[in-house]
Amino acid sequence: MLEQRVLLTLKNKRACLNVWKLRSLWRSSVRCFCSEKDDDKIPAAGQYRSTWKILKEEFKGIKEGNLNSMQSEIPRETDFLVIGGGIIGSAIAYWLKQKNPKGFSLTVVERDPVYTRASSMLSAGGIRHQFSIPENVQLSMFTTEFLRNIKEHLSVLDEDPPDVQFNHQGYLFLSRPEEAESTMRRVKMQRELGAKIELLTKKRLSQKFPWLNLEGIECGSYGLEGEGWFDPWSLVRAFKQKNISLGVEYVKGEVIGFDFREMNGIYEGKPTTRKELQSAIIKDEKNKRKELSVALPVEPRKRYVYVVHCPNGPGLEAPFTVNHNNVYFRREGFGGYYICGVCPERNEEPDISSLDVDYDFFHEKVWPSLASRVPAFEQLKMRSGWAGFYEYNTVDQNLVFGQHPYHKNFFFANGLSGHGVQQAAAIGRAMMEYVLDGDFKTIDLSRFSFDRFLYDETIIEESVV
Ligand SMILES: Cc1cc2nc3c(=O)[nH]c(=O)nc-3n(C[C@H](O)[C@H](O)[C@H](O)COP(=O)(O)OP(=O)(O)OC[C@H]3O[C@@H](n4cnc5c(N)ncnc54)[C@H](O)[C@@H]3O)c2cc1C
Repeated sequence: MLEQRVLLTLKNKRACLNVWKLRSLWRSSVRCFCSEKDDDKIPAAGQYRSTWKILKEEFKGIKEGNLNSMQSEIPRETDFLVIGGGIIGSAIAYWLKQKNPKGFSLTVVERDPVYTRASSMLSAGGIRHQFSIPENVQLSMFTTEFLRNIKEHLSVLDEDPPDVQFNHQGYLFLSRPEEAESTMRRVKMQRELGAKIELLTKKRLSQKFPWLNLEGIECGSYGLEGEGWFDPWSLVRAFKQKNISLGVEYVKGEVIGFDFREMNGIYEGKPTTRKELQSAIIKDEKNKRKELSVALPVEPRKRYVYVVHCPNGPGLEAPFTVNHNNVYFRREGFGGYYICGVCPERNEEPDISSLDVDYDFFHEKVWPSLASRVPAFEQLKMRSGWAGFYEYNTVDQNLVFGQHPYHKNFFFANGLSGHGVQQAAAIGRAMMEYVLDGDFKTIDLSRFSFDRFLYDETIIEESVV
């Protein structure tokens, strides 16, 4: 057990990232137990991507050379600690550290350095500007810009420039007559924010995408620029590589709890005692797990991605297509492969104790819808699939961002419910502004604060895929 003084950021559950900041001048301490977890025991998440194998190879590269990835020693002192080194944690680490690389220390604690079950690696990698909430549009639009300039942001001396393999095919959302009005409203708002979204009538849809069966469809909204999909692993790796070059320390360990200390002060003229966060407890396999005390309405929800083969399916120009019932597909590579899926209904939520894939769900819920919308898909062949966890905000399926209402040195950045990969770069920047400047300088995310749950206010995103 080590006694340490720290500033820290935390990811307290599988699906949420919590950011802690404990000012070193408060003489905070952290108790750390170095993790000796055997990663071979973590079940791989799916067959198709062989995530485990891919990541193992990547990690081998990291270990052997350029990334100099994980440190086994948890440092004695750090100014900031990010818990969870997935895409959100790594983006936050990047934006904080690039602001002043020598100004403070920053540590990322990651329990699974090969990211076997990290959502970022198991996502579909989609990026779209078509959301119903303006901030979500802005967040994703910023990521597009970030990816456009990725070489300036994330290049590292003596390394190849990062390439996240952005496919600029756009998103296509299909709407039935009863949804047409809300689609038009959304598109208007998206355009006002500068997104290049086209509203397509049924006639235009059939001209542009002749492989679609448009029965029951009134119109579609189509992203002309900046939307598509990219390889999330390459982006995480690029963030990580850059972070390490900036002096961020990635350490292996699992944060399992926090310690508090009592602070005496005067509030509204009366002596008060309040608890202040002072330490993070990092798990050693030998130590019993403790429950965290911070409750968030965020939980893991299992989502399947299926890989199908259909040589006669839509061609290279096919967008990331979302049917009116949210069944989606997109091309995967160039050999007639596609990935597809849909969120289960509330009463169908799968068990989350494993990442096993339910292929019956594909046959019952996904394929019929795909085949009726794209007749060529009647001939598709199932190849494989994988599962991952959405960090699901059970209240309003949206970001939870900013300061904890009670613990002022604790910050949230989680709950994105399926759109975190495409917003991570912007969320990282927002956290840097919020923590270092004390305010939002670019995109105002104040509506996403934790406090909305205390006041029963919700921000419902209509376009959850
Ligand atoms: C099937 C699927 C499809 C998706 N498709 C898309 C998409 O098309 N577009 C999009 O934008 N988003 C998509 N998402 C959502 C996206 O993947 C997530 O929003 C995003 O990856 C969240 O990033 P994260 O860094 O918070 O989580 P993660 O990538 O899960 O990273 C969190 C990390 O924290 C570590 N950790 C957790 N707890 C602790 C602890 N206590 N101590 C130490 N380390 C800890 C974990 O090991 C993990 O590596 C999809 C998700 C899934 C599952």
